[in-house]
Amino acid sequence: MHVPIERNAQLTATPSQPAQESEDEPPDPSPCPAGAPALACSKPAGRVVPFPAHRAGIISPAVKSFRKRHFQNVPSKLWNDWQWQTSHRIRTLSQLETMISLSEEERGAFTRSERSLPLGITPYYMSLISPDDPHQPIRRSVIPTVHETVHSAGEADDPLGEDAQSPVPGLVHRYPDRVLLLVTDFCSTYCRYCTRSRVVGHGAIHPSRNRLEQAFAYIAQTPAVRDVLISGGDPLMIGEEKLSWILSRLRQIPHVEIVRIGTKVPAVLPQRITPRLVRMLRQFHPLWMSLHFTHPDECTPEAYRACAMLADAGIPLGSQTVLLKGINDNVETMRRLLHHLLKMRVRPYYLYQCDPISGSAHFRAPIEKGLEIIRGLRGFTSGYAVPTYVVDAPGGGGKIPLMPDYVVGRENDALVLRNYENGVYRYPESCDISAS
Ligand code: SF4
Repeated sequence: MHVPIERNAQLTATPSQPAQESEDEPPDPSPCPAGAPALACSKPAGRVVPFPAHRAGIISPAVKSFRKRHFQNVPSKLWNDWQWQTSHRIRTLSQLETMISLSEEERGAFTRSERSLPLGITPYYMSLISPDDPHQPIRRSVIPTVHETVHSAGEADDPLGEDAQSPVPGLVHRYPDRVLLLVTDFCSTYCRYCTRSRVVGHGAIHPSRNRLEQAFAYIAQTPAVRDVLISGGDPLMIGEEKLSWILSRLRQIPHVEIVRIGTKVPAVLPQRITPRLVRMLRQFHPLWMSLHFTHPDECTPEAYRACAMLADAGIPLGSQTVLLKGINDNVETMRRLLHHLLKMRVRPYYLYQCDPISGSAHFRAPIEKGLEIIRGLRGFTSGYAVPTYVVDAPGGGGKIPLMPDYVVGRENDALVLRNYENGVYRYPESCDISAS
């Protein structure tokens, strides 16, 4: 069935702006000091800048040439303004067509009614996309294809059973001592493999005071919860005042020991990491962040700088990467990404097997491929560079770690092990001291 391009009007009936403060906007409990010098909190005086990309003003060559082609009259001040980037996202087929040559598979996605995740790409991220190569990894991760309208066996809209584990709207309580708080369904750029594509971009999860107060009440009444992960959507698309209010409300709950924020902003909208934002965030330590990176092409000078600002604010950074077929499912690509992350002071945390969301078959690599990647990393590079490979169990079973099998077996009292080079070693397990 052919659906007119206006299909996008419905698809894009989601917010065109970052999540705005609602009428019931709470007061900002701790506004950033007016007139504070840029980077005053995040870059101590006299510090040696360790990596040139930390310096403001360094921009990727791809970004420069894209701006010249498509946003020539946009001054740098606007280009570097995250709200300008957000309000100028590429959201329609006609916008896309002015920037890239679409393949038949990509064009086909716009003629099907089954596609539910909206299109949204910041001009910055668009500048990293090849205009000619539909197989370019990051292009595949954000430009829809007809494949996402094909539903395969075992797929589901909510494969992790999050809705069934939500005691209040937007709060998932799966593990004993931590909860997932979805604060918004808005992202500046939509990943085609998103686990929450059933909700993101649909205007279904809004950071309204009423809903969030229900979530805070649940956490306050559940003393076992010591760790709150704020996610969405992308929480950093919320304004500083609202985000500060959310963090301060969580900090008022005595048994909440740590708060984590999950975001893809440093990869798709690094302009969002501003001195004002990091000054606000650092007031809520211990605050951790999980950054979503997919491919080494995302590790631009702009992304380096964003991560440096967060790290300089004392925020421990971890990364989350989804294993994606034809995008990052080989040792060399993954190693380049992980090495970039270490240089960006981001500790690789999880490598996820892609969740079986509806229409994801073209993204899902076999589990053996993930194990092969871990086997190709462990021992061959720094241990800090090796993430934990996990399957998030369909139906809500939680993350299950997967490891290549390094245990060969047992010989008498020895455990027989295989090392990273396939050498076989025996570890004596006997603790019988009487024999000595
Ligand atoms: S940034 Fe995260 S929540 Fe947003 S579309 Fe991508 S995977 Fe989904």
